[in-house]
Amino acid sequence: MSNDIWSFSESAAFASEVAAGASSLANSMQGGEAVIVDLGEVRGDVHGAKRRLLLKGSVRASGPPEAVAESIFRAADNLKPAVILLGATRNGREVASRLAIRMKIGCLAEASRLTFEGGSLLSDRSVYAGKVNARVSCTLPCISTVRTGSFSRTADEPDETQVFDVGEVAAKTNILGSSRKESGTVDLKSAKVIVSAGRGVKRKEDLPLLEDLARDMKGALGCSRPLSSDLGWLPEEHHIGLTGVNVKPDLYLALGISGQLQHIAGMKDSKVVAAVNTDKEAPIFQASDYGVVGDLYALVPALRKALAARRDAK
Ligand SMILES: Cc1cc2nc3c(=O)[nH]c(=O)nc-3n(C[C@H](O)[C@H](O)[C@H](O)COP(=O)(O)OP(=O)(O)OC[C@H]3O[C@@H](n4cnc5c(N)ncnc54)[C@H](O)[C@@H]3O)c2cc1C
Repeated sequence: MSNDIWSFSESAAFASEVAAGASSLANSMQGGEAVIVDLGEVRGDVHGAKRRLLLKGSVRASGPPEAVAESIFRAADNLKPAVILLGATRNGREVASRLAIRMKIGCLAEASRLTFEGGSLLSDRSVYAGKVNARVSCTLPCISTVRTGSFSRTADEPDETQVFDVGEVAAKTNILGSSRKESGTVDLKSAKVIVSAGRGVKRKEDLPLLEDLARDMKGALGCSRPLSSDLGWLPEEHHIGLTGVNVKPDLYLALGISGQLQHIAGMKDSKVVAAVNTDKEAPIFQASDYGVVGDLYALVPALRKALAARRDAK
């Protein structure tokens, strides 16, 4: 086993983050060096480590995960890195698990922090929708997927490129085409204020009431999963939570949302949370800075009226 820490993601933007993670790990291992793995071609926009490894003959980075895993396997089986870090994207997770099986080594998942202890890699990962931080270890050599946003990109440019010929790797599946998903106008990630609708909203026709409030507050309209995925009242991009968007607004106003942990996972980093719910035992109040036990149908018009009065007074 060498002391090299490899990094790979099919997403060029994420690949630089993963490379920064590999560099920080390599710094804590004697003789350790971080290596950016490129498949088929050098991606000049990927940086964050001093060395690059180009896998010649491989499928491209965005190729089918089974072929990407096979390419990396052929090189890793030969060059024996201590750790292979992969971006925790949909494809990255699949590549990691396939690679771990192929190499017969352990695989850590969704790491937000990585360190070495003895001959093992220690990883911190968030579990139970962010309620608990778990520390998991795996003996070296091993693989780990890395959560986006865990490492800050650096400007380190590779000054050495090693080429390794992996031979022909036949893909068993082929991507016949891809098309961009239609996206609407909502940008919850950068919204300073989010008015979020839950099942407390009784009918689709009532949503404009909340939309108007969001507009008054110069904010965006979000929702809990049932409103988008189950009822189809709002597009998927409005849905906040574990399986939706993660948001961090200055103010998150939860209207008729019970506060199940899958929802909380997506908004818990909001600066201020205010909730309106008819049930005083609703779990959302545990996650709120301000709470009103009351009917959103009474509160929303009252709030709009108060905002209008304040605007008129200016
Ligand atoms: C694998 C998995 C992933 C999931 N991912 C997500 C996710 O990413 N995001 C997500 O949101 N959910 C997710 N869910 C669903 C989640 O578990 C909850 O079912 C969902 O968040 C509940 O949505 P809600 O709070 O709007 O509805 P409910 O739980 O039905 O709550 C409605 C609330 O409205 C209140 N209410 C009723 N009438 C009024 C009124 N007039 N005024 C004020 N309050 C009123 C009620 O007291 C109640 O608390 C996931 C579930 C699973 C199993």
